[in-house]
Amino acid sequence: MYAFDYQRPTSRDAAKSAAAGADARYLAGGQSLIQAMRLRLSQSERLVDLGAIADLKTIKADASGVTIGAMATHASVASNADVKRIAPAIAELAGGIGDPMVRNMGTIGGSIANADPAACYPAGVLAFNATIHTDRRTIAADDFFTGLWETALQPGELITAVTFPAAQKAAYVKYRQPASRFALIGVCVAQTAGGVRVGVTGAKGRAFRATEIENALAKSFTPGAAKAVKMPTGGINADLHGSAEYRAAMISVIASRAVAAALAR
Ligand SMILES: Cc1cc2nc3c(=O)[nH]c(=O)nc-3n(C[C@H](O)[C@H](O)[C@H](O)COP(=O)(O)OP(=O)(O)OC[C@H]3O[C@@H](n4cnc5c(N)ncnc54)[C@H](O)[C@@H]3O)c2cc1C
Repeated sequence: MYAFDYQRPTSRDAAKSAAAGADARYLAGGQSLIQAMRLRLSQSERLVDLGAIADLKTIKADASGVTIGAMATHASVASNADVKRIAPAIAELAGGIGDPMVRNMGTIGGSIANADPAACYPAGVLAFNATIHTDRRTIAADDFFTGLWETALQPGELITAVTFPAAQKAAYVKYRQPASRFALIGVCVAQTAGGVRVGVTGAKGRAFRATEIENALAKSFTPGAAKAVKMPTGGINADLHGSAEYRAAMISVIASRAVAAALAR
Protein backbone atom coordinates (compact mmCIF):
# COMPACT_ATOMS: atom_id res chain seq x y z
CA MET A 1 0.00 0.00 0.00
CA TYR A 2 1.29 3.46 -0.83
CA ALA A 3 1.35 6.15 1.88
CA PHE A 4 -1.69 8.44 2.06
CA ASP A 5 -3.24 11.15 4.22
CA TYR A 6 -6.46 10.21 6.09
CA GLN A 7 -9.30 12.54 7.10
CA ARG A 8 -12.62 11.77 8.79
CA PRO A 9 -14.91 14.80 8.52
CA THR A 10 -18.29 14.97 10.26
CA SER A 11 -20.25 16.92 7.62
CA ARG A 12 -20.80 16.80 3.86
CA ASP A 13 -19.30 20.27 3.39
CA ALA A 14 -16.18 19.31 5.32
CA ALA A 15 -15.89 16.14 3.22
CA LYS A 16 -16.12 18.11 -0.03
CA SER A 17 -13.50 20.59 1.21
CA ALA A 18 -11.21 17.75 2.25
CA ALA A 19 -11.56 16.16 -1.19
CA ALA A 20 -11.01 19.39 -3.13
CA GLY A 21 -7.63 20.32 -4.56
CA ALA A 22 -5.96 17.00 -3.79
CA ASP A 23 -5.71 13.60 -5.42
CA ALA A 24 -8.37 12.40 -2.99
CA ARG A 25 -10.90 9.59 -2.83
CA TYR A 26 -13.89 9.08 -0.62
CA LEU A 27 -13.72 6.02 1.63
CA ALA A 28 -17.05 4.33 2.36
CA GLY A 29 -17.02 0.70 3.56
CA GLY A 30 -13.56 0.07 2.15
CA GLN A 31 -14.64 -3.35 0.83
CA SER A 32 -13.41 -2.59 -2.68
CA LEU A 33 -11.12 0.42 -2.27
CA ILE A 34 -8.88 -0.94 0.50
CA GLN A 35 -8.29 -4.18 -1.40
CA ALA A 36 -7.35 -2.22 -4.52
CA MET A 37 -4.98 -0.03 -2.48
CA ARG A 38 -3.39 -3.03 -0.77
CA LEU A 39 -2.76 -4.57 -4.18
CA ARG A 40 -1.34 -1.21 -5.34
CA LEU A 41 -3.98 -1.08 -8.08
CA SER A 42 -5.20 2.23 -6.66
CA GLN A 43 -3.24 5.14 -5.26
CA SER A 44 -4.52 8.39 -3.74
CA GLU A 45 -2.83 11.18 -1.80
CA ARG A 46 -5.77 11.39 0.58
CA LEU A 47 -8.68 9.26 1.78
CA VAL A 48 -11.74 11.14 3.00
CA ASP A 49 -13.65 8.73 5.26
CA LEU A 50 -17.42 9.31 5.07
CA GLY A 51 -18.18 7.10 8.08
CA ALA A 52 -18.74 9.93 10.59
CA ILE A 53 -21.33 11.81 8.48
CA ALA A 54 -24.55 10.69 10.11
CA ASP A 55 -26.99 12.16 7.58
CA LEU A 56 -25.50 10.03 4.77
CA LYS A 57 -26.80 6.90 6.53
CA THR A 58 -30.51 7.74 6.70
CA ILE A 59 -33.21 5.81 4.84
CA LYS A 60 -36.56 7.54 4.39
CA ALA A 61 -39.80 6.93 2.54
CA ASP A 62 -41.93 9.55 0.80
CA ALA A 63 -44.20 9.91 -2.23
CA SER A 64 -41.26 9.39 -4.62
CA GLY A 65 -40.36 6.01 -3.12
CA VAL A 66 -37.58 5.14 -0.72
CA THR A 67 -34.41 7.22 -0.54
CA ILE A 68 -31.36 5.39 0.77
CA GLY A 69 -28.40 7.41 2.06
CA ALA A 70 -25.11 6.68 0.32
CA MET A 71 -23.52 5.37 3.53
CA ALA A 72 -26.33 2.93 4.33
CA THR A 73 -24.73 -0.48 4.59
CA HIS A 74 -26.02 -3.48 2.67
CA ALA A 75 -27.13 -4.99 6.02
CA SER A 76 -29.10 -1.89 6.99
CA VAL A 77 -30.82 -1.79 3.57
CA ALA A 78 -31.66 -5.50 3.82
CA SER A 79 -33.33 -5.06 7.22
CA ASN A 80 -34.97 -1.64 6.79
CA ALA A 81 -38.77 -1.69 7.10
CA ASP A 82 -39.36 1.05 4.48
CA VAL A 83 -37.15 -0.66 1.90
CA LYS A 84 -38.89 -3.98 2.57
CA ARG A 85 -42.30 -2.34 2.14
CA ILE A 86 -41.61 -0.13 -0.91
CA ALA A 87 -38.87 -2.02 -2.76
CA PRO A 88 -38.60 -5.52 -1.25
CA ALA A 89 -36.53 -6.67 -4.23
CA ILE A 90 -33.83 -4.16 -3.24
CA ALA A 91 -33.85 -5.39 0.38
CA GLU A 92 -33.35 -8.93 -0.90
CA LEU A 93 -30.65 -7.84 -3.33
CA ALA A 94 -28.73 -6.15 -0.50
CA GLY A 95 -29.19 -9.19 1.74
CA GLY A 96 -27.55 -11.41 -0.88
CA ILE A 97 -24.36 -9.37 -1.30
CA GLY A 98 -21.13 -11.06 -0.22
CA ASP A 99 -21.00 -12.30 3.37
CA PRO A 100 -21.95 -10.77 6.74
CA MET A 101 -18.73 -8.76 7.02
CA VAL A 102 -19.14 -7.30 3.53
CA ARG A 103 -22.81 -6.51 4.23
CA ASN A 104 -21.99 -4.77 7.50
CA MET A 105 -19.22 -2.65 6.01
CA GLY A 106 -20.11 -2.14 2.32
CA THR A 107 -22.46 0.68 1.32
CA ILE A 108 -24.83 1.43 -1.53
CA GLY A 109 -22.92 4.60 -2.45
CA GLY A 110 -19.60 2.76 -2.54
CA SER A 111 -21.07 -0.06 -4.58
CA ILE A 112 -22.53 2.08 -7.33
CA ALA A 113 -19.57 4.52 -7.40
CA ASN A 114 -17.28 1.51 -7.80
CA ALA A 115 -19.40 0.19 -10.69
CA ASP A 116 -17.96 -3.31 -10.57
CA PRO A 117 -19.29 -5.07 -13.69
CA ALA A 118 -20.53 -7.99 -11.55
CA ALA A 119 -21.97 -5.99 -8.62
CA CYS A 120 -25.61 -6.48 -7.66
CA TYR A 121 -26.87 -2.93 -7.04
CA PRO A 122 -26.36 -1.67 -10.61
CA ALA A 123 -28.94 -4.19 -11.89
CA GLY A 124 -31.44 -2.94 -9.30
CA VAL A 125 -30.70 0.73 -10.00
CA LEU A 126 -31.34 0.20 -13.73
CA ALA A 127 -34.47 -1.95 -13.32
CA PHE A 128 -36.11 0.42 -10.83
CA ASN A 129 -35.11 3.50 -12.84
CA ALA A 130 -33.58 4.83 -9.64
CA THR A 131 -32.29 8.38 -9.25
CA ILE A 132 -28.78 9.00 -7.98
CA HIS A 133 -28.42 12.17 -5.89
CA THR A 134 -25.04 13.85 -5.60
CA ASP A 135 -23.81 17.03 -3.97
CA ARG A 136 -24.16 18.69 -7.41
CA ARG A 137 -27.13 17.18 -9.28
CA THR A 138 -29.39 14.20 -9.80
CA ILE A 139 -28.39 11.53 -12.29
CA ALA A 140 -30.84 9.16 -14.00
CA ALA A 141 -30.04 5.47 -13.73
CA ASP A 142 -29.69 5.13 -17.51
CA ASP A 143 -26.95 7.80 -17.53
CA PHE A 144 -24.95 6.63 -14.52
CA PHE A 145 -23.00 3.48 -15.47
CA THR A 146 -20.80 4.48 -18.38
CA GLY A 147 -18.20 1.70 -18.65
CA LEU A 148 -15.97 -0.82 -16.88
CA TRP A 149 -15.64 0.65 -13.35
CA GLU A 150 -16.70 3.96 -14.91
CA THR A 151 -19.61 6.19 -13.96
CA ALA A 152 -20.93 9.65 -14.78
CA LEU A 153 -19.44 11.00 -11.52
CA GLN A 154 -17.00 13.87 -11.90
CA PRO A 155 -13.82 14.16 -9.80
CA GLY A 156 -14.76 14.94 -6.19
CA GLU A 157 -18.51 14.48 -6.81
CA LEU A 158 -20.15 12.93 -3.75
CA ILE A 159 -23.08 10.51 -4.00
CA THR A 160 -25.46 11.46 -1.20
CA ALA A 161 -28.42 9.09 -1.76
CA VAL A 162 -30.29 6.85 -4.19
CA THR A 163 -34.09 6.98 -4.65
CA PHE A 164 -35.93 3.83 -5.68
CA PRO A 165 -39.54 4.38 -6.78
CA ALA A 166 -42.04 1.70 -5.84
CA ALA A 167 -42.52 -1.04 -8.41
CA GLN A 168 -45.72 -3.01 -8.93
CA LYS A 169 -43.80 -6.25 -9.11
CA ALA A 170 -40.04 -6.78 -8.95
CA ALA A 171 -37.35 -9.28 -8.03
CA TYR A 172 -33.59 -9.74 -8.28
CA VAL A 173 -32.11 -13.17 -8.91
CA LYS A 174 -28.39 -13.83 -8.90
CA TYR A 175 -26.55 -16.81 -10.29
CA ARG A 176 -23.53 -16.60 -8.00
CA GLN A 177 -19.92 -16.99 -8.85
CA PRO A 178 -19.40 -19.48 -6.01
CA ALA A 179 -15.96 -18.25 -4.90
CA SER A 180 -16.57 -14.49 -4.86
CA ARG A 181 -20.39 -14.47 -4.48
CA PHE A 182 -20.54 -11.71 -7.08
CA ALA A 183 -22.96 -12.26 -9.96
CA LEU A 184 -21.93 -14.58 -12.76
CA ILE A 185 -25.28 -13.36 -14.06
CA GLY A 186 -27.67 -11.22 -12.01
CA VAL A 187 -31.02 -9.96 -13.30
CA CYS A 188 -33.42 -7.51 -11.71
CA VAL A 189 -36.88 -7.32 -13.29
CA ALA A 190 -39.24 -4.49 -12.34
CA GLN A 191 -42.75 -3.75 -13.54
CA THR A 192 -43.00 0.00 -12.96
CA ALA A 193 -45.42 2.79 -13.83
CA GLY A 194 -43.20 3.48 -16.85
CA GLY A 195 -43.23 -0.12 -18.09
CA VAL A 196 -41.10 -3.21 -17.58
CA ARG A 197 -37.37 -2.70 -17.03
CA VAL A 198 -34.72 -5.41 -16.86
CA GLY A 199 -31.26 -4.69 -15.40
CA VAL A 200 -28.47 -7.20 -15.99
CA THR A 201 -25.10 -7.46 -14.22
CA GLY A 202 -22.15 -9.81 -14.63
CA ALA A 203 -22.56 -10.27 -18.36
CA LYS A 204 -20.74 -7.29 -19.90
CA GLY A 205 -18.17 -4.67 -18.94
CA ARG A 206 -20.95 -2.74 -17.22
CA ALA A 207 -24.51 -3.31 -16.09
CA PHE A 208 -27.08 -2.79 -18.84
CA ARG A 209 -30.77 -3.07 -19.66
CA ALA A 210 -31.89 -6.13 -21.61
CA THR A 211 -34.31 -4.36 -23.94
CA GLU A 212 -35.02 -7.61 -25.82
CA ILE A 213 -36.43 -9.14 -22.61
CA GLU A 214 -38.19 -5.88 -21.66
CA ASN A 215 -40.06 -5.96 -24.99
CA ALA A 216 -41.09 -9.58 -24.49
CA LEU A 217 -42.24 -8.94 -20.91
CA ALA A 218 -44.23 -5.86 -21.95
CA LYS A 219 -46.38 -8.21 -24.05
CA SER A 220 -46.52 -11.02 -21.51
CA PHE A 221 -45.12 -10.69 -17.98
CA THR A 222 -44.44 -14.42 -17.60
CA PRO A 223 -41.35 -16.54 -16.97
CA GLY A 224 -41.86 -18.26 -20.33
CA ALA A 225 -41.77 -14.98 -22.24
CA ALA A 226 -38.39 -14.07 -20.68
CA LYS A 227 -36.93 -17.53 -21.20
CA ALA A 228 -37.90 -17.58 -24.88
CA VAL A 229 -35.75 -14.54 -25.67
CA LYS A 230 -32.47 -15.38 -27.39
CA MET A 231 -30.06 -12.71 -26.20
CA PRO A 232 -27.36 -11.56 -28.64
CA THR A 233 -23.79 -12.51 -27.70
CA GLY A 234 -22.21 -9.23 -28.87
CA GLY A 235 -20.22 -7.61 -26.06
CA ILE A 236 -20.94 -10.46 -23.63
CA ASN A 237 -18.00 -11.56 -21.44
CA ALA A 238 -16.27 -14.86 -22.05
CA ASP A 239 -13.82 -16.29 -19.49
CA LEU A 240 -13.01 -19.50 -17.64
CA HIS A 241 -16.39 -19.32 -15.85
CA GLY A 242 -18.46 -19.31 -19.01
CA SER A 243 -18.51 -18.58 -22.74
CA ALA A 244 -20.40 -15.63 -24.22
CA GLU A 245 -23.03 -18.07 -25.56
CA TYR A 246 -23.50 -19.60 -22.09
CA ARG A 247 -23.80 -16.22 -20.38
CA ALA A 248 -26.22 -14.90 -23.01
CA ALA A 249 -28.43 -17.96 -22.56
CA MET A 250 -28.26 -17.60 -18.76
CA ILE A 251 -29.53 -14.01 -18.92
CA SER A 252 -32.87 -15.29 -20.23
CA VAL A 253 -32.94 -18.17 -17.75
CA ILE A 254 -32.18 -15.95 -14.74
CA ALA A 255 -34.64 -13.30 -16.00
CA SER A 256 -37.35 -15.97 -16.15
CA ARG A 257 -36.60 -16.90 -12.51
CA ALA A 258 -36.77 -13.22 -11.53
CA VAL A 259 -40.18 -12.88 -13.20
CA ALA A 260 -41.40 -16.01 -11.37
CA ALA A 261 -40.14 -14.57 -8.06
CA ALA A 262 -41.79 -11.21 -8.76
CA LEU A 263 -45.13 -12.88 -9.56
CA ALA A 264 -44.91 -15.01 -6.40
CA ARG A 265 -44.44 -12.00 -4.12
C1 LIG B 1 -15.54 -10.90 -0.32
C2 LIG B 1 -16.39 -9.87 -1.02
C3 LIG B 1 -17.56 -10.28 -1.62
C4 LIG B 1 -18.38 -9.35 -2.26
N1 LIG B 1 -19.52 -9.79 -2.87
C5 LIG B 1 -20.32 -8.89 -3.51
C6 LIG B 1 -21.54 -9.31 -4.12
O1 LIG B 1 -21.97 -10.47 -4.05
N2 LIG B 1 -22.26 -8.36 -4.77
C7 LIG B 1 -21.88 -7.05 -4.82
O2 LIG B 1 -22.58 -6.23 -5.40
N3 LIG B 1 -20.75 -6.63 -4.23
C8 LIG B 1 -19.97 -7.51 -3.58
N4 LIG B 1 -18.81 -7.07 -2.97
C9 LIG B 1 -18.47 -5.63 -3.03
C10 LIG B 1 -19.14 -4.90 -1.87
O3 LIG B 1 -20.52 -4.75 -2.16
C11 LIG B 1 -18.56 -3.49 -1.62
O4 LIG B 1 -19.23 -3.04 -0.50
C12 LIG B 1 -18.74 -2.44 -2.71
O5 LIG B 1 -18.19 -2.83 -3.91
C13 LIG B 1 -18.02 -1.15 -2.36
O6 LIG B 1 -18.68 -0.50 -1.34
P1 LIG B 1 -17.88 0.16 -0.16
O7 LIG B 1 -18.88 0.91 0.64
O8 LIG B 1 -17.05 -0.83 0.52
O9 LIG B 1 -16.98 1.25 -0.95
P2 LIG B 1 -15.42 1.56 -0.90
O10 LIG B 1 -14.63 0.32 -1.16
O11 LIG B 1 -15.10 2.34 0.32
O12 LIG B 1 -15.31 2.56 -2.15
C14 LIG B 1 -15.46 2.06 -3.47
C15 LIG B 1 -15.32 3.25 -4.45
O13 LIG B 1 -16.44 4.12 -4.34
C16 LIG B 1 -16.04 5.46 -4.05
N5 LIG B 1 -17.08 6.01 -3.17
C17 LIG B 1 -17.51 5.45 -2.01
N6 LIG B 1 -18.54 6.17 -1.52
C18 LIG B 1 -18.76 7.19 -2.37
C19 LIG B 1 -19.69 8.27 -2.39
N7 LIG B 1 -20.64 8.41 -1.46
N8 LIG B 1 -19.62 9.15 -3.42
C20 LIG B 1 -18.70 9.00 -4.39
N9 LIG B 1 -17.79 8.02 -4.42
C21 LIG B 1 -17.82 7.11 -3.42
C22 LIG B 1 -14.67 5.32 -3.40
O14 LIG B 1 -13.89 6.49 -3.54
C23 LIG B 1 -14.10 4.13 -4.18
O15 LIG B 1 -13.60 4.58 -5.42
C24 LIG B 1 -18.00 -7.98 -2.30
C25 LIG B 1 -16.81 -7.56 -1.67
C26 LIG B 1 -16.02 -8.48 -1.04
C27 LIG B 1 -14.77 -8.02 -0.35
